[in-house]
Amino acid sequence: GKGIAVFTSGGDSQGMNAAVRAVVRMGIYLGCKVYFIKEGYQGMVDGGKYIVEANWSSVSSIIHKGGTVIGSARCMDFKERAGRLKAAKNLVDRGITNLVVIGGDGSLTGADLFRQEWSSLLEELVATKKITVDQQQKYRTLQIAGLVGSIDNDFCGTDMTIGTDSALHRIIEACDAIVSTAYSHQRTFIMEVMGRHCGYLAIVAALTSEADYVFVPESPPPDDWQKRLCDKLEQERQMGQRLNIIIVAEGAIDRNGDAITAEMIKKVVVDNLQQDTRITVLGHVQRGGNPSAFDRILGCRMGAEAVMALVEADENTEPCIISLDGNQAVRVPLMDCVKRTKAVAQAMADKKFELAVELRGKS
Ligand code: ADP
Repeated sequence: GKGIAVFTSGGDSQGMNAAVRAVVRMGIYLGCKVYFIKEGYQGMVDGGKYIVEANWSSVSSIIHKGGTVIGSARCMDFKERAGRLKAAKNLVDRGITNLVVIGGDGSLTGADLFRQEWSSLLEELVATKKITVDQQQKYRTLQIAGLVGSIDNDFCGTDMTIGTDSALHRIIEACDAIVSTAYSHQRTFIMEVMGRHCGYLAIVAALTSEADYVFVPESPPPDDWQKRLCDKLEQERQMGQRLNIIIVAEGAIDRNGDAITAEMIKKVVVDNLQQDTRITVLGHVQRGGNPSAFDRILGCRMGAEAVMALVEADENTEPCIISLDGNQAVRVPLMDCVKRTKAVAQAMADKKFELAVELRGKS
């Protein structure tokens, strides 16, 4: 059977464990040898105890856990060719020519690069006598299937990323808790949620908590937002509301691309309306806790499909992402998704906000 390794890389998210579990069990079921690579690309570069064979029971009792039990890391070594050369040697030594990478756009971009370089890395390993010509021939193709683990839902090419739904559960629990205390004291609360380039968490939080105002990166407010905000908050109070809720994504910006922070919003509200105003920054709470049913199932389906893609692959198969498209698990080319995600970031940097939204929307 084929040698498959699974690893998690970049920021952790709830549901990664369900994906790891599905990869291991589906792989074993289909007769593959499955390995964990611990601590992401760092483990792949360092080898040794970081690359271990998995068995059926090594993934028992992890589906309900948040984060990733096999560890994740940011790895500078893998960004250099010398690091990727070490990683290639570690994989060849173990007969691993299939990777399931679970991570965000950085991790997936790295995987694509590794795959493009693979034959030249093996060439160099032969030239320096680190592997034999037989090994080079036997392991000449590297297959990759990527799963998108990210709480931000910021990746082009999939409807939902693994972890987004659980993060929303954390956020709405916090919003509900804030609403009851805000009501009692007639306060205004500004809640900061994650999302550096993507306002998905903020938008859904605002809709599900009856927020009065929301600030997101890809749709900056009109230049007179301070006045509009105050008018809206005042109108709500005049209609008998005892509280106001404002949601701000951590990456919120104005039309010039300058940050709109919770502190700035608070100052506007206090200076103009003298409302008793508090800030709550949810921070890493959003990444924590147990994965939701949705994320567990999503991780399972994506993990199983990734193994199927690798088992069916031949030398000409391009690396793919397992994506959720209208509740179907489908395979889409890895490079297209990475390119489009980069195009969105570029459009945002160029302040072409409508274009960014349009690019992200196309799947
Ligand atoms: P995420 O995967 O969550 O977007 P990062 O952007 O931090 O997180 O990427 C995680 C890791 O992936 C990096 O620490 C690095 O090891 C690897 N990586 C990211 N971008 C590249 C790249 N362009 N080339 C090689 N490796 C990369």
